Amino acid sequence: MEMEDEYKEERKRMVDLLRRRGISTEVLEAMNRVKRHLFVPPELRDQAYGDYPLPIGGGQTISAPHMVAMMCDYLKLERGDKVLEIGAGSGYHAAVIAELIGTEGRVYTVERLPLLVDFSTRNLRDAGYKNVVVVSGDGTLGLPEHAPFDKICVTCAAPSVPPPLLEQLKTGGRMVIPIGRYIQELYLVEKKNGIEKQSKCEVAFVPLIGRFGFR
Ligand code: SAH
Repeated sequence: MEMEDEYKEERKRMVDLLRRRGISTEVLEAMNRVKRHLFVPPELRDQAYGDYPLPIGGGQTISAPHMVAMMCDYLKLERGDKVLEIGAGSGYHAAVIAELIGTEGRVYTVERLPLLVDFSTRNLRDAGYKNVVVVSGDGTLGLPEHAPFDKICVTCAAPSVPPPLLEQLKTGGRMVIPIGRYIQELYLVEKKNGIEKQSKCEVAFVPLIGRFGFR
């Protein structure tokens, strides 16, 4: 027998809360389709639909649902987009992006901690996402072999925008990236003729560690 979706009600409550925060219908529907409880450690499943971050191992966290939702809205994801995510973590944010870009699109998500490469790969497989590829490595270098990208989503805080990411973003593309060490701001970066950078809000992310990140 098909496993019943035991967290359906909790998920609906989470989505209703996000609706009141002004999140778009597309993103709300996508988040209503992703079973967040499959992306947290089993002992935390009952907390999976609270609007806060949770530990996922290796000192890292799965971002709060409202942060995932806001970042997806800023990116203006479209069906068929090719997206690069830095920081796969649990794989949850990549799954939400996958819902928004559809089966014609593809997400490449880079993770530096082997423990979380395994965790995210397993979670995405068990939840049935086939258009997400988890790559082990330093995301500050981007993925030149798959560039250019329509959208780039950085889910850890950088000292500044890593140059390879800017280079690998399509003209007309969008990137969201938290910048700062202790006090961080979420930036929307748009690549047009020039580069437009807009600060959106204060945030708290784990650090981006790598060649063009923190050391
Ligand atoms: N998007 C994730 C949130 C993960 S937290 C989710 O939905 O669960 C940020 C992640 O970025 C952590 O897993 C951390 O290990 C990873 N990270 C930090 N620096 C990185 C780098 N240079 N390249 C790839 N991943 C990095």
